[in-house]
Amino acid sequence: MNEQTHILHSIPVDPLTGAISTPIYQTSTFVQEAPGVHKGFDYARSNNPTRQVLEQLMAKLENGARGFAFSSGLAAIDAVVKLLKSGDEILAVDDIYGGAFRLFTHIYEKFGITVRYTDTTQIEHVIDAVTEKTKLIWIESPTNPTLKISDIRAIAQVAKANHCLLCVDNTFASPVSQKPLDLGADLVVHSATKYLSGHSDLIAGIVVTKTQELGDQIKFIQNASGAILSPFDSWLVVRGIETLSLRVKQHTENAQRIAEYLQTESLVKNVYYPGLSAHPNYRIAQQQQKYAGGVIAFDLQIDDKALATQIVSITKYFKLAESLGGVKSLICLPCEMTHKSIPQEKRYASGVTDSLIRLSVGIEDADDLIDDLKNVFAQVQINQSVNA
Ligand SMILES: *Cc1c(COP(=O)(O)O)cnc(C)c1O
Repeated sequence: MNEQTHILHSIPVDPLTGAISTPIYQTSTFVQEAPGVHKGFDYARSNNPTRQVLEQLMAKLENGARGFAFSSGLAAIDAVVKLLKSGDEILAVDDIYGGAFRLFTHIYEKFGITVRYTDTTQIEHVIDAVTEKTKLIWIESPTNPTLKISDIRAIAQVAKANHCLLCVDNTFASPVSQKPLDLGADLVVHSATKYLSGHSDLIAGIVVTKTQELGDQIKFIQNASGAILSPFDSWLVVRGIETLSLRVKQHTENAQRIAEYLQTESLVKNVYYPGLSAHPNYRIAQQQQKYAGGVIAFDLQIDDKALATQIVSITKYFKLAESLGGVKSLICLPCEMTHKSIPQEKRYASGVTDSLIRLSVGIEDADDLIDDLKNVFAQVQINQSVNA
C-alpha cells in the first residue's frame, strides 16, 4: 500500500462516536464499574485514549510491537537509558545530539553508566569499541548537523553478536523514509517535536520497541517515571502525522534542489546533504533511506563566524531559530546555537566549524527559497568587496 494511504487509514475512527478526528480525552481519571473493573483505562498517566491512538499509530508506522509517547524527545531517550543498570556501558555515535550527550554524561555517568563515543559510520570502529559491558548501542542516522549516515543493518548484527540492544534515533529520517526496526534495531526513538508533528508547535517524544517484551519494560518505565505526553499534544502529533508522507517528500524535493544550488555558490565550501553523490555515505543513504530529508548543512570558504552570522541574520524566508522539521524553513548557526555547549575541539572534529550553517528546508516553493539564499550571498559579497 502507498505510505500516505497507509498512514491515513492507520488512524482509527473513534469507536464510541464515529468521530473521524481523534477525540481529545482531557481527563485525569476514569470511572470504574467496580473496583478494578474498567474499560482498559484507570488513570491517565498509565493510559489515555488519545495518547493510545498516537502510540499505536507510531508502532504501526515503525513496524514495531509497541509505541510510547513522552513529553519530549529527551524524555523518550531517558526512558530507553533506564533499561540499563549501574555498571553497564553505552556505545554511542560521536556526532550525537547535544541533549543526549548532556543526559548521558551529566546525569547517567553519576549513576555508574559509562558512555563511549565512536564514529559509527565505520563498522570497524563499532566492532573495536564494543566491550562485554556494552548493553546499548546508540546511533542517530542521519546525524545532526553534518548528516553522517551509519549502516543500521551492519550495526544491528554487531549488537546481536554482542548481546546488546541497538537504539536508533530516527528523528531526522522519520518512519516514512527509514524503518530501523526492519533493519534489525531493537528500539527507535523520535523527537516528535520535529518531522512527526511538523509544524513547530509542540515538544514531544516517541519510543517504539520491536518486541512486546521490550515494550512491557518501556511501559513500566513510562508509568513509573511519568514523563507522558498530554492528550492535546498527542492529538496534535496525530494530526501532524496525517500529512507526514506528503511533507517529507516536499521537504526532500526542496532540499535536493537547494543543496545542488549551494554546490555552485562560490562562497560555499562544503555542502553536507545525503542526497548528493559527493556525500561520503551516499551509497548507504540510498540503500537505507527512501528520502534524503530536509536538513542541509554547509560551511564557508572563509571560516569566519562574523560572515556566517551575517548570512543567517538576513535571510527572508529562512527564519533564524533552533529546531527543524517544520513546514516553515529555518536557518541556524550551530556553533553559537545548538552546539554551543560542545567543547570547541570536539565541535571542530565533527565538522561543526565557526562558519557551518544548518538549514531546515520547509515546504515553501523551492525557487523562492533559492532566491532568498542567492540574494543573501549577493549582498554579503558586495559588503565584502566594499570592506576590502
Ligand atoms: C531535537 C532532537 C532531540 C531532542 O528532542 P526534544 O523533543 O527537543 O526533547 C533528540 N534527538 C534529535 C536527533 C533531535 O533533533
